[in-house]
Amino acid sequence: MAKVLVVGNGGREHAIAKALLASLQVETVYCAPGNPGMSLDGIQTVAIDEMAFSALITFVRRNAIELTVIGPEAPLAAGIVDAFQAAGLAVFGPNEAAARLESSKVFAKQFMARHQIPTAGYRLFRELTSAITYSREHVVPQVIKVDGLAAGKGVTVAMTRDEAETALVKAFNTTDTVLIEDYVAGFEFSQMVLVGGDKYVLLPTAQDHKRLLDDDRGPNTGGMGAYSPVPQVTPAILAQTVKTIIEPTIAGLKADGLSFEGVIYVGGILTPQGPQVIEYNLRLGDPEAQILLPQLRSDFYQLICDLLKHRQPSVRWQTSDTYLGVVLAAPGYPGPTKADVPVPTVVGAYYASVAGKPEALVSAGGRLMMLTAHGHNLAAAQQAVYTQLAQLRTGELVYRHDIGAKGLVQK
Ligand code: AMP
Repeated sequence: MAKVLVVGNGGREHAIAKALLASLQVETVYCAPGNPGMSLDGIQTVAIDEMAFSALITFVRRNAIELTVIGPEAPLAAGIVDAFQAAGLAVFGPNEAAARLESSKVFAKQFMARHQIPTAGYRLFRELTSAITYSREHVVPQVIKVDGLAAGKGVTVAMTRDEAETALVKAFNTTDTVLIEDYVAGFEFSQMVLVGGDKYVLLPTAQDHKRLLDDDRGPNTGGMGAYSPVPQVTPAILAQTVKTIIEPTIAGLKADGLSFEGVIYVGGILTPQGPQVIEYNLRLGDPEAQILLPQLRSDFYQLICDLLKHRQPSVRWQTSDTYLGVVLAAPGYPGPTKADVPVPTVVGAYYASVAGKPEALVSAGGRLMMLTAHGHNLAAAQQAVYTQLAQLRTGELVYRHDIGAKGLVQK
């Protein structure tokens, strides 16, 4: 029986750990640093920070842990996989060089251009004046992107030139590399792929909800809810996504000497010319992981072990139901949040930035927990989650009331 370590502390890591613990080959799943809500599912939390690579490696060696799965982007971008590999340990995630596909938007744009992968046009700016000149002469909306990790908050869709200028001034206050991208209108979806060299497994399609408020208003967040599968992504669109985006991405990584074992997340958008890439992430989405991994009907641990050996895994997913989840956040999110707000204890929920005892959890950050349910279609799944939510004491917690609505309206 194997012992496994998951690195990270959010809802995504809760879902990864839970899926691994369901394997008959796994005896113990540790999560570092994890959160106290995870113990409701029998996951063992370990008080080591996700960036403390040598402490994590020591822990893995001392406890004879067979496999480490990295959840979040920050340790990946900082080279945690390189550190584990140098120590001779099995680890699932991209190395630092490949993780640049997420950690640098400029690198990603150049990668897509090199491998003819469809994406929006853009210009790169290194100082404010020329960026503002370009912005004034260009049609709006414009999309302003800071080059670097920003937890989903480094992007501004500017509807007017004034908004664009404000965003540019703000962006150049924090960085010296800013992209102005053409705005692409269309239906957004996420397609995640588990890869091991040139072998890959598609996850079901998903849709995130990045804006804080109902009807996609308010600021961008890490993600307020998700559902899967997405009815708008028909089998034909999926096949086109695989042919024009997924396979060229995997082949491009190989051609560039960047093949790895881990996750490729395509943030896609449906346009009249076909699906395009909005962004790459090199890890599972949070909140998407929480509604994707429960759909797996085969052994997640075996799947990862196969990919680590570049063997094609045999995988089964459920196909009858839609899965949906709603995130509950602390007041103030995505700005400074209020701490110590009570968070309900719900068996089966996915926990994130919480502190305290499992039976008396409190807020300790932005996104706190996610409630999920499934039903025979999107409307049924939506109703099941919101019925659960209506029975909870949510107090001051913030959540959206319309997760899944886009999938129902635009079908
Ligand atoms: P990103 O962090 O790059 O995924 O961007 C965050 C969000 O900004 C996306 O989910 C989209 O809603 C929006 N966005 C990013 N790039 C574009 C674009 N070129 N056109 C339209 N919307 C965009």
